[in-house]
Amino acid sequence: MLVDLHMHSYYSDGSFSPREVVELAKEKGLGFISITDHNTIEAHEEFELACQELGMNYVLGVELDCVFNNRSIHLLAYDFKVNDEFAAIIKKSRQQLDQMGVDLIKLMEKDYDHLSSQDYEAYSYDRRLGGFKGIHYLHDRGLTETLMDGLKIYRDYHIFYKDYDFPTVEEAIKQIHQCGGKAILAHPGKYYRHHSMSEVGADFEQLVSIHIDGIECYYPIHSQELTEYCVKFCEEHDLMITVGCDCHGEMSKKESEYIMGCIKKDVSDLRLKF
Ligand SMILES: [Zn+2]
Ligand SMILES: [Zn+2]
Repeated sequence: MLVDLHMHSYYSDGSFSPREVVELAKEKGLGFISITDHNTIEAHEEFELACQELGMNYVLGVELDCVFNNRSIHLLAYDFKVNDEFAAIIKKSRQQLDQMGVDLIKLMEKDYDHLSSQDYEAYSYDRRLGGFKGIHYLHDRGLTETLMDGLKIYRDYHIFYKDYDFPTVEEAIKQIHQCGGKAILAHPGKYYRHHSMSEVGADFEQLVSIHIDGIECYYPIHSQELTEYCVKFCEEHDLMITVGCDCHGEMSKKESEYIMGCIKKDVSDLRLKF
C-alpha cells in the first residue's frame, strides 16, 4: 500500500478541494494519505468523508509553523483529537500567518501609491488557485510576474517567520501529545541545505530529548545522503519514518518534484505507529 502523508488542500495554500485530493490520490494508486494544511484543520471533515466514501485509508493531520533554536521549522501533527488548547494554538498560528501579509502591505503602501491596507483588507482571491492572500495581492496589483516572486518581496521588506509568535517546537509537541497525536519533523532537507550530517544529528538529538515521534525522511528534495541519514537515525532511536511529497496541486505544477505520490514508498518501508 503506497503512502503519502503530506499534501495541501485549498484551505491552506493548495489548489484542490479535500475531495479532489482524495480522488487524485486514488487515481495515483495511493492507499494511505493525509492532508496536512498549514495551521488549519478546516479540511478535516470533508477529507474524512471523502476518504470513507472512496475507501481510502487516512490519518488526520496538520502542518504547524514552529520555532526551533531561533529558526522557523514545520512540524507535522497526526492522529490527534483536537482539544481547546491545541485548537487555540492552530488558530493563533494561522492568524500570525495572515498578519504577515497585513504587515507587509502596511510597509509597502508607503512605497507604492496603488497599494493600501484598506485595499488589501477588502481584497479576496480565488482559493482554487492555491497560495496565500499576500502573494495573490502582489501579483494582481502588478508587483510580481509569478505568484512565487511574492515570497521574495516578503524577504525584501524583512517580514520573516521568526519575528512572529509561532509556538516553540517543544510547546507544540507537548500539546500534540496531550491530544494523543504524533509529532513529526517535516522536510529536514529544507533547513539543512548547507549543514554537515553531524550538525543535523545534533539537532535531531535535541528533538528526541523533547520527545519528537518521527522524521519525514522521504521528501522530494532530499539528497540520498540525507534520506539515508534520517532513516538510520529513526531506526536507531525508535522513531517513525514518514514520506511526504508536499503536493500543493496546481501551485506545485511547475516544480515537478512536488507531485502527489512521486515517491513510491510502501507502508512496509516505513515505521508508522498509527
Ligand atoms: Zn512545510
Ligand atoms: Zn507542506
